Amino acid sequence: MKENMKSSGAETDLRVQYRKMGISDAVQDLADEVLNGLRDRFARIDETAEFNQLKVLAAMQQNRVSEACLYPSTGYGYNDIGRDTLEKVYASIFHTEDALVRPLLASGTHALHVALSGNLRPGDELLAPAGGPYDTLEEVIGIRPSRGSLAEYGVKYAQVDLLPDGGFDYEAIRKKVNPSTRMALIQRSKGYQTRLSFSVEQIGDLIAFLHELKPDLICMVDNCYGEFVQRIEPGDVGADLIVGSLIKNPGGGLAPIGGYIAGRKELVENAAYRLTAPGLGKEVGATLGVNAAFYQGLFLSPVVTASALKGAVFAAALYEKLGFSAFPPASAERYDIIQALTLGSEEAVCAFCRGIQAAAPVDSFVVPEPWPMPGYDSDVIMAAGAFVQGSSIELSADAPIRPPYTVFFQGGQTWPHARFGILKTLQYMKDAGLIHA
Ligand SMILES: *Cc1c(COP(=O)(O)O)cnc(C)c1O
Repeated sequence: MKENMKSSGAETDLRVQYRKMGISDAVQDLADEVLNGLRDRFARIDETAEFNQLKVLAAMQQNRVSEACLYPSTGYGYNDIGRDTLEKVYASIFHTEDALVRPLLASGTHALHVALSGNLRPGDELLAPAGGPYDTLEEVIGIRPSRGSLAEYGVKYAQVDLLPDGGFDYEAIRKKVNPSTRMALIQRSKGYQTRLSFSVEQIGDLIAFLHELKPDLICMVDNCYGEFVQRIEPGDVGADLIVGSLIKNPGGGLAPIGGYIAGRKELVENAAYRLTAPGLGKEVGATLGVNAAFYQGLFLSPVVTASALKGAVFAAALYEKLGFSAFPPASAERYDIIQALTLGSEEAVCAFCRGIQAAAPVDSFVVPEPWPMPGYDSDVIMAAGAFVQGSSIELSADAPIRPPYTVFFQGGQTWPHARFGILKTLQYMKDAGLIHA
């Protein structure tokens, strides 16, 4: 057998395989050294994936997912058993009364907009008790004036920033809550801000405080990038609504589109009336054949999320070893899959992004360049060679071209791919003379 492989030229050595893919021995040595120090960490990530795999599996079994659930519906989509069952599965996983999981939710921003606008009425106030929301929500809410914003419909907005140490400013929150405060919006992941992400336990403390101040306040969590990172979800700590995108963690990289809104039955229904039409709600909405990918992506999601987490921790540890600063630091507990690395120069962030692109399964031959992106005050460079456009559970990176030259890195559907992508970034940095490994 061995002889046969030799004569056919097959090579089974991992080192040689990496070399063929352009990774030098020096880069491999450095990576191996860093990885040796991460074994315990990775074992804990794997255990959480195992826990969450069982959680997802139990939800699918309890809700009797059947072959018929995988079939498409068309037209109005009445009696789409696959859609209705999947919504029960999500509700089981998040421990909520109900859920809306739809391809009609075009993105995370759209899902958040539907959840907000479905539940707020003119005169109501939306409170952000833990700092400003994700960039795209500024226009949804009307913080930046925008056509069709909640502000145009008479919804007010109030915000309490975090304390300098990153904690919740409970005193200021107490003062801000008033009779018209109807909803509170809490973002689990830091997104592209420089604060730390919140743990589900921290979010639970904040929700408990808010509910004590005002029992009927709707506490909504923007759960983007956080699903399956921990063993509990915001539904386990009192969240009334939980919202996320299916082209991030819970779609497992297989969902080609979609978002979810899970929470109390009445609130989810209100969102459904906004998504489709008053009177129709959840009853309509054909799934056009995406159900199978939604189920299978959800099934894979705990392990996919773990792969992305390992990539984030590995990248942080590797770049810290080279003297760069990582946020969160390699040693920090993770509450989402985003890793920021401050690389200090335009050349470095470009080399990093080009390495990620060169490691992609799709468009690997493309060389990313910085360009002036709408909505940003500087040029931005982006690397993504994804099967699903904009999917950030797939390996991707982007950086605004401005000091301190920080690149945001996330995803990796498989750990080997995340690892290879990170090795590629290091190789590109080394070849450009930006590091001496
Ligand atoms: C990605 C993200 C969103 C918006 O999702 P899109 O699908 O890009 O519209 C909102 N909030 C957070 C925290 C996110 O990470």
